[in-house]
Amino acid sequence: MNTQLIQLAYLVAAVLLILGMRGLSSAKTAPRGNLIASIGMLIAIVATLLMNKVVDYTVVFAGIVVGSGIGVVLARRIEMTAMPQMVALLNGFGGGASALVATAEYLTYDRTGVTPEGVVPYAIVAGLLIGAVTFTGSIIAFAKLQELMRGAAITYPGQNFVNALIALSVLVLAGMVVAGIQGLVPFWALAAVSLLLGVLLVIPIGGADMPVVISLLNSYSGLAACATGFVLGNSGLVISGSLVGASGLILTKIMCDAMNRSITNVLFGAFGAAPEAGGATGDGESQGTAKGYTPEDAAVIFANARSVIIVPGYGMAVAQAQHAVRELGDLLESNGIGVKYAIHPVAGRMPGHMNVLLAEADVPYENLIEMDEINPEFPETDVALIIGANDVVNPQARTEKGSPIYGMPILDADRAQHVFVIKRSMNPGFAGIQNPLFFNDNTMMIFGDAKKVVLSIVEAVRAFN
Ligand code: NDP
Repeated sequence: MNTQLIQLAYLVAAVLLILGMRGLSSAKTAPRGNLIASIGMLIAIVATLLMNKVVDYTVVFAGIVVGSGIGVVLARRIEMTAMPQMVALLNGFGGGASALVATAEYLTYDRTGVTPEGVVPYAIVAGLLIGAVTFTGSIIAFAKLQELMRGAAITYPGQNFVNALIALSVLVLAGMVVAGIQGLVPFWALAAVSLLLGVLLVIPIGGADMPVVISLLNSYSGLAACATGFVLGNSGLVISGSLVGASGLILTKIMCDAMNRSITNVLFGAFGAAPEAGGATGDGESQGTAKGYTPEDAAVIFANARSVIIVPGYGMAVAQAQHAVRELGDLLESNGIGVKYAIHPVAGRMPGHMNVLLAEADVPYENLIEMDEINPEFPETDVALIIGANDVVNPQARTEKGSPIYGMPILDADRAQHVFVIKRSMNPGFAGIQNPLFFNDNTMMIFGDAKKVVLSIVEAVRAFN
């Protein structure tokens, strides 16, 4: 196909990708945005397949069939709560693919004796380095989140020094590859050291920082693809790679801001190194006695309430309680109670996690209120109903200077007149720290699986009517 037509197709694809991403900025327009971006991607793929450079379609189509098959099975099977590790794997494969393309191109130059010119040698090095770091870094992130290895930060004395030494050797080897010194040896050495660097950069990160790292690795995978685009002279890859790189960075910044952390602190702060953090099963130190109540007690309080704010968290996702929560919300509304849903930007395990679950249960978008907007309403609210949330309502973040979550903006649920907390035990949340809210005088714990408890409250409220 004509090169100019292909470039035009890439331009159209790029515009559609940008419009699609714009659509993703709101839950209402997201499905359309997704569709528009998919059409853009399809145009880019078809244009690439029609390039004269493609000499054999057999392998390409075999790859499409096998890849799509695995993709469909994984996408259907994966639990929503396991989405971060799924994304980690996808990033890793993207980075790995870029590193392989850079390697293949370098080997072709080496075999034919042609010297790569202009930006190409730099792009080869960038594609290999960033792609390899993304690959091994993402595999470690996947293994941590899937609990195939210890989720907490792994640290050892002199760690930052060792990493700095390795980073320095990467720079030296990269310089040698670009300058074409010593043939293939520095290239393979760079590949090996980059793979090692990916592992070493991610093992000291743990606990609640993992999703941030995944977003950063997502950005890296985009940058690696962008570099590969320069290697291949493919503008479609350059544009889509830069879009992924930039959006991953923006998301990383949003997540860091929501946790009140700097990116350097996330990368080198070894958060969660000790005590063990990462998962809802760690031990929290006790701070007194939390009071256990029943769904029937909740029904009595709801009978006298005029306003309720529901605060969903990771536990709602684990229990898949969103439909039950919606049922309760509707029931309370039909009893004349004002019901709103408070959304913390990092509730759950990925940005927008709660929005997606509640949208799936058809909770109207206008009832989902962002943190800054809902916080002033808590003191005037009769009941805050916390469903499987913990860190995002932990008042330690406001007061305890030594706390790992100090400074993280939280939902002020503790300021409501009555607070119900539904969770299974006194175990801490992702950050691995106990929550003083559970011991407040106005807090009533209802222990149990979120879905079962919410359905019991629904029954109790109906019985009370
Ligand atoms: P948390 O992880 O703090 O707490 C979840 C709580 O849910 C646990 O204490 C657990 O207690 C409870 N739970 C688990 N399963 C169930 C169940 N089946 N039924 C009832 N309760 C259950 O969640 P939050 O949403 O409050 O906070 C999210 C955390 O993730 C924060 O630390 C945040 O910084 C971090 N994070 C999130 C990101 C995001 O993008 N969303 C990104 C980066 C970090 P128990 O075991 O007793 O039931």
